[in-house]
This record gives sequence, structure tokens and C-alpha cells, in this order.
Amino acid sequence: MRAIVKERPGPGFALRDVPVPQAEPGTVIVEVKAVGICGSDLPIFNGVRDVPYPLIPGHEFAGLVAKVGPGVTGWQVGDRVTAGLVIGCGTCPYCRRGDESLCDNLREIGFHVDGAYAEYVRVPVANLHRLPDEVSFRQGASVDPVASSYHGLRRLNMRPEDTVVLFGDGAINLYALQAVRARGIEQVMVVGHHDHRLDVAAGFGAVVVNSRIQDPVEAVARFTDGRMADLVIEATGTAEVIPAVLNSTAKGGTVLLLGVFHHDAAINPAPIIRHELRLVGSFCYSKETFAASLELLRRGYVRIEPVVTHVLPLEEIGHALEMLNRREAIKVILEP
Ligand SMILES: [Zn+2]
Ligand SMILES: [Zn+2]
Repeated sequence: MRAIVKERPGPGFALRDVPVPQAEPGTVIVEVKAVGICGSDLPIFNGVRDVPYPLIPGHEFAGLVAKVGPGVTGWQVGDRVTAGLVIGCGTCPYCRRGDESLCDNLREIGFHVDGAYAEYVRVPVANLHRLPDEVSFRQGASVDPVASSYHGLRRLNMRPEDTVVLFGDGAINLYALQAVRARGIEQVMVVGHHDHRLDVAAGFGAVVVNSRIQDPVEAVARFTDGRMADLVIEATGTAEVIPAVLNSTAKGGTVLLLGVFHHDAAINPAPIIRHELRLVGSFCYSKETFAASLELLRRGYVRIEPVVTHVLPLEEIGHALEMLNRREAIKVILEP
């Protein structure tokens, strides 16, 4: 089968013919129909994040069950499926209470074991979710990025009267924005610096600020009559934005950190202390959040259309990565 293989450290990847994976006990082989390129795949391709080499990345996927491993019940060849990426050990205290993303022995599809930038991918049955008929493969491949923000959002006490500011105009926040709006929250602002992405955010009902043109903290102050935002969501993963994030948060407000930082960030904790802010980190998602996110997509509360800007064949991943690195594309889905 054709697969995109990350063979060694440093930038780059290879398109290779590799054997189709075997269906081991407790797993199925999924024929990949759609796989999204995640922001967290870029550091792998760019050589910033190391993985066990050689590795086939790719964790946002949907497809058809093509082969069922020994001892597997409840799944049949031809079933339409998507899958969460977290492979919990199932025995540590965190797995036992349902917090697989905190697993002491965490492994993830596409980061620690081969993923879905290929025609076929092996998936443990515990990771599978059935795709309802009315949910497309492209939507199925979008559950992961929806769940990545919804996992954090579900743990906050959002009220319809809250003011929410999102830093970052990428796919994670464009999905988070829709989930926030689905809670009945009307006062929402998105801070970014790509006009075409901010236009998508505006289409979902957000007031938008281009931080290259306007100071975001001043814009939040105007937006909230000086009270600042009850909830600020950080999804850029860049250290420079942290002071603006803290200074945009109202007294007693909450900061949700979704961005994954690859560099150290020095922060002044004074605003956290003086304004009694609550900092919430969120990493991956649980099986339950994944199912809830699939339901958000099925019911149309979260739409993928203007967020998924390009759909390309697997072979065009190089082109896709260029567009993503240049921030021309928002979300690219590959169809092997
Ligand atoms: Zn992802
Ligand atoms: Zn565990």
C-alpha cells in the first residue's frame, strides 16, 4: 500500500510502498477514506518533534473496516468508522477513571504507532467509533480536532451571558468557536492575523480582530466595556501571546490552554494572582468526549465546510504541507 513515512529525524518525509498491516488480536484494519492534516503533524514533518522512526503519522481519519482481527466481536467488514487517537493502557489509575489522555503509559495513533497517512491503518477496537450514515468520511476525519477543543470546553462552566475571546484562527479554534456558540454564547471574539481565516470566524458569528492591525488587549477592552473576557481560549501555542491572553481575562475569569507549546515560555504570574484567574489545561480527549464531538458534527452544531479548505489525494501531501506552513489553507483533508 502507499503510505507517507517519516523515516528519520529532521525535516521531510517519503512516499513509500509498504506492507498492509496485519490484523492483530483486538484490532481491525481500516481502509482510510479521509485523513486530516493536524497542526500537531507539522512539527513532525518539519523535524521539530521526534517520533519513533520509521513512523506513518496521521490520526484524524475515517474509513471502512477492511479486516477484523482474532477475537474481535461487534465489528464487521464494511462498517463505517472513525477512531480516537489515545491508546490508554487500561490499567493505570487515570485509565480506570476514564481519563485516558492522562494515561501513565500513553500511546497515540500516528505519534507512537503507525497512523493513517496510508491506504490502511491498524486500530485497536477500543478506539473505534461507529460513523452514523448521515455523517460523511470527511466529517468523521474531523471529530479529532473538534474533540481536542471540546474536551477542555466541557470542563468549564460556560454560561450564555459569558464573554469569550479566542486567540488563534486555526482549525481548533474555528471548531471551538462553533462549540461555544452552540452553548448559546453570543459575545464571542476571535483574535488572529490571517484575514481569510478571520472571515470564516466572522461567518460563525464572532467579532474578529487582526492582531497585526489592532492591539488585541485594547480590542477586548472595547468589546467588553473594560470588564475583559470571562473565558479566554489560547490555541496558538506561541509564548508571545501569553501576556495578551492573561491581560484579556476578566477578574475571576478562566483561561483555557489548548495550544501545544514546543518552546519554553516565561510568564509573569502576577495577573493570575491579582485577578484570581483559573488556568485550565486540556490535552487530547476521552472516549466520551470523542463520542460527544461526533454528535455535535452529526447534529450540525459544528460544521466543517468553511474550515476544511482543501481536499487532496494522499500523494499531494507535500503541496498540502506547503499551503499549511504558509497558512494559506486552514484544514486539509487527504483522501488515499
Ligand atoms: Zn489532531
Ligand atoms: Zn493508562
